[in-house]
Amino acid sequence: MSSDANTPVLRNCIRLPLAEDELLEVTAKAKDYAIMHGAAMRSKTAFSPDSLNFAPFVLVPSSFPRKEFEKAVALQPIINRLMHNVAHDEEFITTTLAETIKVDEFTANLFNIYRKVLAHGFTQKTSLGMLRSDLMLESGCPELSPRALRTAAGEDGGQDAGAAVGQIAGAVGAAGVGTAAGTGSKEKEEQKEHREVQLSRATKEPERRATGAHSAYCCWKQVEINTIASGFGHLGPASKTIQRFVLSELGHADKLHNMPDNNALAGLCDGMVKAWDIYAKPQAVILFIIEDVSYNICDQRFHEFYIRETYPHIKVLRRTLTEVHREGKLGQSKELLLGSQEVAVIYFRAGYEPGHYHSQAEWDARYLMETSLAIKCPSIHYHLAGTKKVQQALAQPAVLERFINDPEEIKAVGKIFTGLYSLDDNEAGNASYEMALRTPERFVLKPQREGGGNNVYGVDIPDALKRMSRVERSAWILMDLIHPPLTKGYMVRPGGDMPPQIVDMVSELGIFGVVIGDAEHIVHNYQAGHMLRTKLSTANEGGVAAGLGALDSPYLIDSDDEDEQK
Ligand code: ADP
Ligand code: MG
Repeated sequence: MSSDANTPVLRNCIRLPLAEDELLEVTAKAKDYAIMHGAAMRSKTAFSPDSLNFAPFVLVPSSFPRKEFEKAVALQPIINRLMHNVAHDEEFITTTLAETIKVDEFTANLFNIYRKVLAHGFTQKTSLGMLRSDLMLESGCPELSPRALRTAAGEDGGQDAGAAVGQIAGAVGAAGVGTAAGTGSKEKEEQKEHREVQLSRATKEPERRATGAHSAYCCWKQVEINTIASGFGHLGPASKTIQRFVLSELGHADKLHNMPDNNALAGLCDGMVKAWDIYAKPQAVILFIIEDVSYNICDQRFHEFYIRETYPHIKVLRRTLTEVHREGKLGQSKELLLGSQEVAVIYFRAGYEPGHYHSQAEWDARYLMETSLAIKCPSIHYHLAGTKKVQQALAQPAVLERFINDPEEIKAVGKIFTGLYSLDDNEAGNASYEMALRTPERFVLKPQREGGGNNVYGVDIPDALKRMSRVERSAWILMDLIHPPLTKGYMVRPGGDMPPQIVDMVSELGIFGVVIGDAEHIVHNYQAGHMLRTKLSTANEGGVAAGLGALDSPYLIDSDDEDEQK
């Protein structure tokens, strides 16, 4: 959807295509390897609680510029702190969502819980944030890579493109977030490097055109920030496990060092256990709130099993919202009790979409949990802070200053936002509306929903907008489409072609973060691994369970990689 003939292609980590017999053999092995290492899901078409299919995966890892990856990792604790501060800013949340809740019933229901909890005071002041910041490389990055300079992507332009990636990523790295305590001289140096990079790109461009090669440098932009049910804590690391196996089978063990460590499962589960420690009741359990049917079961059970194996004294329970309504009550100190078991920590893997609330009973259950002493992931204010509307508001100039003190950090975070526009019923909102009607192909239209499949893309936007009243438009936001570079590779799916065909793909990286604290203090704040999802370049969205996306993991590339494509 967001790619065209000018879209650059990132070079592959190994030379493709593979010989057919080798491809057949390694794919068959990798499928079994995936199932046997829990890179699996329940089938939606032939559901059985007793069996699993492997989850779709990309056979070899997709390339990602190392410096951009490192920048995303370094930025995560700052994003964690930002979201923590946003979640605790009652005035900001209330004014930002004021128009939205007039027309969006789901967000209004969440907001009503928030309002009631505020009125009575928070029983539990500590929140557990397990966030995932999702991002895509932007091949049309205005700062460093004018799209106009680029030529059509050729099959064998890999080396040159890779060099450009590393070269410019290097310049960005020099301005990296990790070095936030910057000085004026650093800035000058940054500008100098920037100019040099631009110059070298510009002078090399005729060469590239002549060889049919292309430049594929990309910065990255945030797609969204998730504060509820941030999945793939297990499937992220599991993807690396499969692809590490495949690269080794194909004789490329020497390349494994370019696949970054990924301890997402441990990082997230340890976060839950840190919250459990803060609650400080040895008999209390951790409760997972689950859907009625969990297709993505490995991505929940592995969390549960990790906790039991690493901390044998901690029990995990799984309950639906309906079950919590039936079994749950508050004790004398407002502790959440399920039967006789006290709950220390609640981890919501459901509750983020209207379909999870079948009736008032599920809303009552959510409210019961919010008023309880249990530490919630997310608490209601964290959930609201993760709405698309709040993301749009944060991208407005000067808003970040409200939440971040350090000017370097403000600059670094500001750069990750692509254009985000309000559709509220006011002058600015109406201007965005007109802009969307004029050039819909530049945008994606998003409602206040999570979980995929809710957005409207490009040419479909005008019809969708025209069906809404001016007021109804405030339930939505408008966002610039991001144009990620392509990668080429084999996508392996249950029931798919054998051998798989080479397809054009685009990836979305998710960086996990854990933050624990209350309105005054943050007691834990760390980055906790990553996940990469890859979809066909023709698909708008890439949900893995939805069938378009596939598990993947990054293969980091730099300018000094001489051996690519061997
Ligand atoms: P959800 O909460 O449903 O996951 P997202 O904002 O993540 O909503 O959008 C779903 C998917 O749509 C993303 O995973 C991505 O593939 C695609 N998408 C979202 N925003 C953009 C964008 N600005 N440019 C390109 N693709 C986008
Ligand atoms: Mg998403």
